[in-house]
Amino acid sequence: MTYDYQEIIPYLLHWFDHNARILPWRENPKPYYVWISEIMLQQTRVEAVKGYFDRFITALPDIESLAKADEEKLLKLWEGLGYYNRVRNLQKAAQLVMKDYNGKLPADYEPLLKLPGIGAYTAGAIASIAFGIPVPAVDGNVLRVCKRISASFDDITKETVKRELWLDLKDIMPKDRPGDFNQALMELGAIVCLPNGKPLCENCPVMHLCKSFHEELISQIPVKPVKNKRRLEDKTVLLIEYQNSYVIHKRSSQGLLAGLWELPLMEASLSQEQVEEKLKEWQLDIQSVAAMGEAKHIFSHIEWHMLGYHIKLSGISEQFLEEHAYLLATEEEIRYKYALPNAFSAYSGQWK
Ligand code: SF4
Repeated sequence: MTYDYQEIIPYLLHWFDHNARILPWRENPKPYYVWISEIMLQQTRVEAVKGYFDRFITALPDIESLAKADEEKLLKLWEGLGYYNRVRNLQKAAQLVMKDYNGKLPADYEPLLKLPGIGAYTAGAIASIAFGIPVPAVDGNVLRVCKRISASFDDITKETVKRELWLDLKDIMPKDRPGDFNQALMELGAIVCLPNGKPLCENCPVMHLCKSFHEELISQIPVKPVKNKRRLEDKTVLLIEYQNSYVIHKRSSQGLLAGLWELPLMEASLSQEQVEEKLKEWQLDIQSVAAMGEAKHIFSHIEWHMLGYHIKLSGISEQFLEEHAYLLATEEEIRYKYALPNAFSAYSGQWK
């Protein structure tokens, strides 16, 4: 063991008992609730997840309803959370659980790990929180907290470092409260031991045991290599309106935002003149074209730099829609039926 975390346990649990945030999935840690919340929390802050979680659980209250949900409904429920493969994997896993486990999540770490979309962290979180099994759940927050406490200069992006910490924590997990121990570490990272060199050490229950604090190393730990730069892509977004309906298009089933709906999108930033020329080429009955300004959307490896135009038509042909595989949908249909990713929110904002 590189550092003995045993000593922090009583202080951490005592702090958690008095400071844990009240969250719907903590109030009622049913395995299904813990699972859904952990998947949602992978890329989104707790405060933002609450609303999505309530909406999802109300629409799909159990594993069976998730397994049977229509894909369009599922994507719509995930709208705003991004990383849509996560919800597709949730459904695949729910279907497997229906088939192989009689509709109940397996109460063990290894079989959980075999389900689609469930990695070591999520399996550890579900196993410990929902089933009381003493296995660690090591995410970015836990890595940061532990590496600061132990004043370790390990590169926390390395799988070997994560695995070593997992093994260290596995040895000292309190058998009576494994779920609370994992959640306490995560919570400390989320609300006290904050990233980017700004932890609130004066509020920390383990400050007296924290080597980084005493050795003044906090600004240097955790160690992460500089990320590769994202690829920049220029796009032109068309908000095409005809009689209070809007043109949308279903993206390919492969790649970025697979299978979701989008506003008509063109490669490169086009000027208003270039857009008007394109519309003439398409032989559309144009009423007006107005620039909607610039917007940016950041994905994990790509950054879209967009220019938007609001185009009002006085007529639209079936042929035009068919040729481009476009669909004309009302504001209400877009709001309730078709999943339009956040990437377009700067332009679709007027009906949201
Ligand atoms: Fe993090 Fe500061 Fe607590 Fe150390 S003392 S664990 S750096 S909050």
